[in-house]
Amino acid sequence: MKILVINAGSSSLKYQLIDMETEEVLAKGLCERIGIDGHLKHSPLVGGKPVFNEDLPMPTHSEAIAAVIEKLTSPEYGVVSSMSEIDAVGHRVVHGGEKFASSVRIDDSVMAALEECIPFAPLHNPANITGINACKAVMGDVPMVAVFDTAFHQTMPGKAYMYAVPYEYYQNDGIRRYGFHGTSHRYVSARCAELMGKPIEDLKIITCHMGNGSSIAAIDHGKCVDTSMGFTPLVGLPMGTRCGDLDAGVIQFLMNKYGYSIDEMLNILNKKSGVLGISGVSSDFRDLDAAADAGNERARLALDMFEYWVAKVAGSYVAAMNGVDAIVFTAGVGENSKGTRAGIAKYFGYLGVEIDEAANSKRGEDVMISTPDSKVKVFVIPTNEELVIARDTRDIVG
Ligand code: AMP
Repeated sequence: MKILVINAGSSSLKYQLIDMETEEVLAKGLCERIGIDGHLKHSPLVGGKPVFNEDLPMPTHSEAIAAVIEKLTSPEYGVVSSMSEIDAVGHRVVHGGEKFASSVRIDDSVMAALEECIPFAPLHNPANITGINACKAVMGDVPMVAVFDTAFHQTMPGKAYMYAVPYEYYQNDGIRRYGFHGTSHRYVSARCAELMGKPIEDLKIITCHMGNGSSIAAIDHGKCVDTSMGFTPLVGLPMGTRCGDLDAGVIQFLMNKYGYSIDEMLNILNKKSGVLGISGVSSDFRDLDAAADAGNERARLALDMFEYWVAKVAGSYVAAMNGVDAIVFTAGVGENSKGTRAGIAKYFGYLGVEIDEAANSKRGEDVMISTPDSKVKVFVIPTNEELVIARDTRDIVG
C-alpha cells in the first residue's frame, strides 16, 4: 500500500509518498508560493531519479496537487507508474476541536466538522481544508484520512484543560486548552517506550517538542494528561518568535500605551517575541548559540530563558504525574542542539538525571543520552509526523 501524506499551508504544500510495506519514503517535496507564482521542489528518494526544482504556475492548491501527481508518476522524476498506485491520502489537519480525539476517514460530515473548527485555527484549518478539496478535485474518490495536531491531547482531564474563566465560555464557546504537536508527542512517546523495551502503559514520559514552535506534553501510561500549548499555539514556552506564557495585563498596558490594534499586538506576540524578541539576534538557535559564544548577553539570556522554561514546565509535569521514567527531546532544536539539551538536563539533577556527553553529541538517530545509571532516562528521538499520518491512514482505510 502506498500512501501520500499532505501537509497543506496557506501558500505551501509539503508531501511524502510512503510505501507502507517497508515504511520507506519513496519521494518527498514542497510546493511554495501557491496563489502567488509557484515553485516545486520534488525529490525522488528511490530509483536514482533526479530532483526537480523549478518554478511552476500554481494559481491554487489544485494546480499544486496536479503538479505533485504529475511528478510522482512521470517517467523522468516519478516513483510510481500511475496515480492508481496511490492507495490513500493522509492529511495533516491542525485543529479538530473536541470533535476529534483520533484520526478519521474524511467524508462530508467530517468536512462540515472541519469547517466548524475554523474559528479555533483561522490561519491553519482553511488551508488544510483547501488541501483536502484540491486532492479531491485532482484524485477523485481515493480514500482520505484527517490526522489532527490536537487529537492526542484530548485525553487531558478537565483540571488540566480548563481555564479559570466563567464556565459558560467553555460550554458555549469551546474556550479551553487544546494543545498542538500531538502527532509528534504521540510518535516520540511510543518510540521511547519501544526503546525502553516496556509497554507505554507502564511508563510516565515527558516529551519536549522543541522547534520553531515548542511544546511539552506529560504522557501518563500512554495518555496525554497535560501539555503546554493552549487554546492557541501562542502559550507555554518562549519559542522562536512566540512569547509563551504572558500576563494578559501586559497586552492591555501595551495596547493602551502604543495604540496597537489587537491584530498588531498579536502579530508582535506571535512573530516578534520569543527568543528573537529577547535576543534581538534571531529565532534560530544556531544563530543564538553562535552569538552567545561570541559574548552577546541577550542571546545568552534568550537561551537561558528557554532552558529554564523547559525545565520549569517539565518539572511541573513530574508533579502532575507523581514521577517520571523518561524525558524525550525532539524537533529541530531538540534533535540538533546538544548545548540546549545539556542546559535543560542540568535542572534535572533532583531526578537523578545524568547525561552521557558522548551520547549527547550524536545526531540524526534515536539515542539515549543519559548514562546507564541515570534514574530517569533521557532520549533524543527524531520526530516523524508523516509516518504517524501514513500509519493512521493505512489503519483506517485498511
Ligand atoms: P522545526 O520547527 O522542528 O523545523 O525546528 C526548526 C528550528 O530548529 C530552527 O529554527 C533552529 O532554531 C533549530 N535548529 C535546526 N538545526 C539546528 C542546529 N544544528 N543547532 C541548533 N538548532 C537547530
